[in-house]
Order: sequence, then C-alpha cells, then structure tokens
Amino acid sequence: MSTTQPILQVNDLKKHYPIRGGLLSGITANVYAVDGISFEIAKGETLSLVGESGCGKSTVGKAILRLFDITSGEVVLDGQRIDQLSTGKLRPLRQRVQVVFQDPFSSLNPRMRVRDILAEPITNFGIAQGKEAVTERTMALMDKVGLPRDAVNRWPHEFSGGQRQRIGIARALAAEPELIICDEAVSALDVSVKAQIVNLLCDLQKELGLALLFISHDLAIVEHMTHRVAVMYLGKIVEMGTKEQIFGAPRHPYTVALLSAVPVPDPKIRRERILLKGDVPSPINPPKGCRFNTRCPYVFDRCRTEEPALRPMAQGHVAACHLHDLPAEDNPLLKQAVPALADDRRQFR
Ligand code: SF4
Repeated sequence: MSTTQPILQVNDLKKHYPIRGGLLSGITANVYAVDGISFEIAKGETLSLVGESGCGKSTVGKAILRLFDITSGEVVLDGQRIDQLSTGKLRPLRQRVQVVFQDPFSSLNPRMRVRDILAEPITNFGIAQGKEAVTERTMALMDKVGLPRDAVNRWPHEFSGGQRQRIGIARALAAEPELIICDEAVSALDVSVKAQIVNLLCDLQKELGLALLFISHDLAIVEHMTHRVAVMYLGKIVEMGTKEQIFGAPRHPYTVALLSAVPVPDPKIRRERILLKGDVPSPINPPKGCRFNTRCPYVFDRCRTEEPALRPMAQGHVAACHLHDLPAEDNPLLKQAVPALADDRRQFR
C-alpha cells in the first residue's frame, strides 16, 4: 500500500433528497441518505463500505461517480476536487474512476457484442488507436479476466452471471482506471462464483495496483479481500478501521451485531447471534442522539439525546459510541469475545 497522497478523499459528504408535496409542491421533508461522512483510500488499497440495505453506502458510490450533485462536502480525486467540476472538465477524470455494478446483465448493453463493449472505453478514452491495437487490447482484457478470446463475438445473454461479471470487470479495466467502485459486485452471484470473482478482483488489484471501494452488505466476503472497513448505519460511518481491527476487536455495537450474523458452517464453532430489535429507522426522520439507539442492546439515556462522535480507539481505528466514555470495566464492548469468522475459507485464497 502506498503512503503517498490518497487516490480518493471524501470529506463531510452529505446527500439529502428533498421530498416535495402539497399544493405548492414545496419541500416537506428530506431523506438524509448520506449525512456527513469522511474517509480516504490510498493508492492500491481496498476500503470496504458495509452496512444493511438502505444505509446509504451505494449513494456514496454514486456521489463519487458524480451520478448526481451532492448536497455538501468534498470529493477529492488524487488531490483535485471533483464534486463541483463541470461535465467537460470531469470527462478526463471519469477514466480514472470506473464502476462494476451488482447486476452485470442490466449494465451491459444487450445489443452490443463483447468486443464492442470492451472497445468502447478503449476508443473513447484514447487508450489504443487503430483497429489492430484496439483488438489486441480487447484480447488482453479477455485474458486478464479469464474469459476465452473467441467469446468476444458473443452477446451478453450468452454468458452466465459470473461470466457477465467478468465482462463488467474487463469493461472497467479497459479504461485503465486507478480506482474501481464495486457496488455489491458479487451479491447476485452463487457462493462458488462469488469466490471466483472476489479472487479475480484481488489478483487484479495486486497486479495492477488498483484502489477499490468495495460496497457490500456481506461481511464474510469483505474479510477475504479488504485492507480497511468502514461500517455505515443510517447515512453515517459508525466505525472504521483495518480489517484486523474491525473483525478482531469491533468497537461499535452495530458492527458486533453484523459480525454475529455471519453464518458459521463449522458446527464446532459457536457464536452468539445478536438479534437487532426492529427495522432500520427511516432516513427521513432518523432517531435523535445516536441513530442506532432504537436498536442498540446497550442503549442508555445519553444515547437518546446526544449524538456520539467518531473517536479514536487505536491507531487508524475510530468508532462512534458513548460506551467508550464509561470506565473500561463497565464497557461491554471491551469484554466481548468475538470469534473469528469461519466462513468457508477454502473457496478464497
Ligand atoms: Fe448503543 Fe448508545 Fe453506543 Fe449508540 S451510543 S451504539 S445507542 S450504546
């Protein structure tokens, strides 16, 4: 991992969606999809953004890709703010950040053969010029993602889900990016195919020195391929640290609950499942104080009125929870034994 300038910095990012209604169609409420989050990704690093569906993690990915205007905050790519750039000025930067979506079928044009899907970014971004050079580059991409070269003449519907995701990855690589956002990129795949795609992403990252923002609700997958983890709940980052810190010494009750829900196939290993009360509250009207207070097993009075700030737990490890103001002997998070995940590791390298 590089120690130079981060490839990506996100500073106090907010994305609020106004809800309009009533006779005069004025703004009646806001959806606080992302509500002030900050993180950075070093060159060649993987940061995983995890949390339940609806926590705002995909909105973060879309904000970085500038698929909409953000409400406030900054998105800085390799030292340059990109959140306010005009479309024209943004264009050359788009090459540097690519995306792999969850559903490769809907993200691949069904009326284009694979060769044209891959040739498009190669040509558009001027990676190669001339038919021969573009074909050579296309074939190299097929090799890189483990697809047979003669498959370039096939259509997207002729491939399996895993193969289509390989095409999606090849298309992202075609632009020679420095950062790839993987938005639930393996969620729709079968377990064994999931492992193959995760292994492919890990290999490509090492080989090409790519940075990855891996957006996922699946902690078991994240453990195998990430350097750091940021846990999101209702539009906020509640804990962030290295993989070892998050999986070995989680310091937020939400992280502990997410970890406890990961299935353990080995019957000899017992892990107490923490069942969270109720549903995720609406981002239109998030709870006052700590946003997790309506579901937290350790909630106390202060949590309902005062929002906890992210505070350092260890080098590079932060968590937002009032329990850390209690004496260590009264802090249940410091007493918890967190068994290591025992997902079927044989599938991952
Ligand atoms: Fe739970 Fe309170 Fe900590 Fe929030 S601040 S996570 S409600 S103990």
